[in-house]
Amino acid sequence: MALDRLHEPGSLAQDRRVDSAVVDASISAIDTKMIGLDLVTSAYLLHGDEPALVETGPSTSEAAVAGGLEQLGIGPSDLAHVVVTHIHLDHAGGVGRLSGRFPRATIWVHERGAPHLAEPSRLVASTARVYGEETMRAWFGAVEPAPSERIAPVGDGDVIPLGSRSLEVLYTPGHASHHVALIDSQTGGIFVGDALGIHLPDVGVLRPATPPPDIDVEVAVRSIERIRERASSTLLLSHYGAVPEIDAMCDLSIVRIRGWADQVREGLRSSDDLDRIARLLEKRGTADALADAGPGADLDRYDMLASYRINAAGLIRYWKKRWEREAAGGSSQ
Ligand SMILES: [Zn+2]
Repeated sequence: MALDRLHEPGSLAQDRRVDSAVVDASISAIDTKMIGLDLVTSAYLLHGDEPALVETGPSTSEAAVAGGLEQLGIGPSDLAHVVVTHIHLDHAGGVGRLSGRFPRATIWVHERGAPHLAEPSRLVASTARVYGEETMRAWFGAVEPAPSERIAPVGDGDVIPLGSRSLEVLYTPGHASHHVALIDSQTGGIFVGDALGIHLPDVGVLRPATPPPDIDVEVAVRSIERIRERASSTLLLSHYGAVPEIDAMCDLSIVRIRGWADQVREGLRSSDDLDRIARLLEKRGTADALADAGPGADLDRYDMLASYRINAAGLIRYWKKRWEREAAGGSSQ
């Protein structure tokens, strides 16, 4: 079983080269150097007659991403498309700034996220509630609106035409209600955003990403299964890089997110104290990291992307919403 192999410490971190060509030479990874760190958040360039950037990183990554595009031969008038998997600021916070630098690019985003790229004030307020005002400003910078006339909203099954290739939109809510995965027609690679969680290739640990306010565990599991059904070559994670082991990664993602959700549900039997439940989750996450990578894994960058406190807050909210729904006689999912 592939999953057993993943549980051999170090198996996920095996000699995967971290260079810019992923899947094949037609897709390049651009490190957004988010928060000044390597290998935390990736953008991708799809080469072709209509070059397309997938994900922008936050505003604070503007120079790193524009510099990466320049190195790949993409000047201000060359970039034809910017596509984002969802609007969380580490994925799409830089859309406003980059749309100014690349004035010809059309901006593609799920229809639920589109209004927030044109008018980001509610998105910024929501992010401040999750991270705290000061951390948000330091990590993500000022979020500028993108020109609404250049924003093209998309939904499930839509095909984004990029000239010689295209991206099919797969609606994959769960991590966020406006999250999509994108299937590349040329390579079969799937940009999965945060749908599978966070897996940094030089560490080799897979950790769920369960932030408030949207996280819905069973919806997220169904999205992972949709991705598995459609995956034919390689998964491309925003945090971070290419993962060719499709079944193993999907299996582990499901086990992990359900395991974390169960841990929080158990914790809620005693009290809903956030600090206490965050500590319970940390205990579980530490054991997961040991299973994936052996002792001594460097988890600092995982904590920056999504602390146990943020993940615990998301899962507490998930269970409370779910129990309210069930008490009201609604569906359990
Ligand atoms: Zn996200």
